[in-house]
Amino acid sequence: TDTGSQKDRVVAEEEWLQKWETGNIWFHKERGHPLLQKYLDVLLNGRSGLRIFFPLCGKAVEMKWLADMGHSVVGVEVSEKALKEFFAEHSLPFCEEPVPEISGAKKFQTTSGNIALYCCSIYDLSSSIVGRFDGVWDRGALVAVNPCDRQRYVSLMITLMEKNSSYLLVTVSYDPNKHKGPPFYVPESEIKSLFG
Ligand code: SAH
Repeated sequence: TDTGSQKDRVVAEEEWLQKWETGNIWFHKERGHPLLQKYLDVLLNGRSGLRIFFPLCGKAVEMKWLADMGHSVVGVEVSEKALKEFFAEHSLPFCEEPVPEISGAKKFQTTSGNIALYCCSIYDLSSSIVGRFDGVWDRGALVAVNPCDRQRYVSLMITLMEKNSSYLLVTVSYDPNKHKGPPFYVPESEIKSLFG
């Protein structure tokens, strides 16, 4: 399929912030994603107490699910409003602190410390700041990244993964000439070459 019509499209950070400000958050799934339930065993692979990463997390309710199962959740999101809504909607007390390594970034963490959400661009993160993860839930993340940034995004994700980590990726399949995205159409062949 020709994805040429989307390859030069760029959604600025400001546009994402705007979506959150105006409540134009069609991508948010209040009841969580059925595919996480379906493939939870693949993500966990019999392990408990994992560190799980949510790139471009929004206020994904799946973060609460996994934390309630005893895992430690880390997310990153540019919109502070999204993160504050997450804590408020789940009645989770949290504290806020600066991130010394990233100017302007904030870290919001539940009092119990099992959910830590970074308010900054994912491209500001590195394994020296957030560590490495045993599992990744990538829904609305790779498909939301600007097509020109895909390789950079995937290379970063690879550096954030522990040796035996599992990565669940949700993509969308449609004719990219009919919609401008996001979510963008990322063909399977491209996913294979991106992740290697
Ligand atoms: N994964 C979430 C949200 C998907 S929408 C879910 O499943 O509901 C994509 C999100 O990425 C938006 O909330 C947007 O504000 C955020 N975002 C976009 N670019 C980003 C970046 N460079 N770093 C961190 N977050 C970003």
